[in-house]
Amino acid sequence: MARVIIRSLNKKFDGVHAVKDVNLEIHDKEFVVLVGPSGCGKTTTLRMVAGLESITSGEILIGDRVVNELPPMDRDIAMVFQNYALYPHMSVYDNMAFGLKMRGFDRIEIANRVQVAAEILGIQEQLQRKPRQLSGGQRQRVALGRAIVRHPQVFLFDEPLSNLDAKLRIQMRVEIKKIHVRLGTTAIYVTHDQVEAMTLGDRVVVMKDGVVQQVGEPLELYNEPANRFVAGFIGSPAMNFATVEVANADGALWARHEGIRIKLPARIADRLRRYLGEKVTLGIRPEDLRVASSSDTADLSFDSVVEVIEKLGSEILLDVKVGPNTMVAAVEPTVKAKIHDRLRLALDPDRLYFFDGTSQA
Ligand code: ADP
Ligand code: MG
Repeated sequence: MARVIIRSLNKKFDGVHAVKDVNLEIHDKEFVVLVGPSGCGKTTTLRMVAGLESITSGEILIGDRVVNELPPMDRDIAMVFQNYALYPHMSVYDNMAFGLKMRGFDRIEIANRVQVAAEILGIQEQLQRKPRQLSGGQRQRVALGRAIVRHPQVFLFDEPLSNLDAKLRIQMRVEIKKIHVRLGTTAIYVTHDQVEAMTLGDRVVVMKDGVVQQVGEPLELYNEPANRFVAGFIGSPAMNFATVEVANADGALWARHEGIRIKLPARIADRLRRYLGEKVTLGIRPEDLRVASSSDTADLSFDSVVEVIEKLGSEILLDVKVGPNTMVAAVEPTVKAKIHDRLRLALDPDRLYFFDGTSQA
């Protein structure tokens, strides 16, 4: 087991600066997820840790060793890919045993390790089958098994669940979490799916355009996003944004826009005073909006018109028009609303976010 340290890591392909000055310290036994939209440099970062991609500049340590020049074979890592990368002509057993045979392990040790991994993954019955005789979920288990038997210092996962259907993806997500709890192996996991990142990661690294935007525990990212990108990327449905003007009236500070006029609580007002007269972006999470009752003041609510209703069972998602803006509100499943209804929505003043610049940014 080991920590991984990434220092000032850069990767330039001809013309593309894919990874820009990434710094990360992954602790022993930690499960860290790299998340971000397609093309943001997640795979390239992981492949540099694995040794499958050369480093343009920077340093990578696994344990206490600088591994920059080490071939993948000598880095003591095991990687799991999206496409499983199983050998089609080999049995499940041989697929799992292959890496150990290559490294000269004796037969009894190999058999023991494969047995233990097969038991962890619940694939004991499939050991003599060929990959084509397995379901997608079983194939992914074999790919995991092949990594587990190696007893590596670090697991590297590149979107391992992306080829599975939604239900299986959630099941396997839980499996991976259990495996991590059981084995405690340091893991770096790449995904574009923020829900996967939030549920799996001890800490999550949000990337955009090759640059780390924020590193934090899941709830830290959710509650205190470092910037507008992270705010919009983490959370589902996504945070609502609207451009508002910061204005002074009646001895208070207000966030104003067509359709919106919110009185800012003192704590926020102090922070926003320097933007007086300027436009900023207001962010409100859908789950922080609710249907206003008679006790809600006009200062902390606004009118909307219902455009779309999505009943999810546990909640209802309302797409509403607020002045020129469209917003989503996640409201109680008991709310009775019809399309074109005029609905007053209330917000929690402690759950407002503000970002520099206008919402088109
Ligand atoms: P992600 O895994 O986050 O989707 P990648 O790390 O695969 O992103 O890619 C990051 C950027 O580097 C993209 O712009 C991609 O087109 C580019 N890139 C990746 N691999 C290569 C390569 N072998 N040659 C040139 N450009 C590459
Ligand atoms: Mg990728």
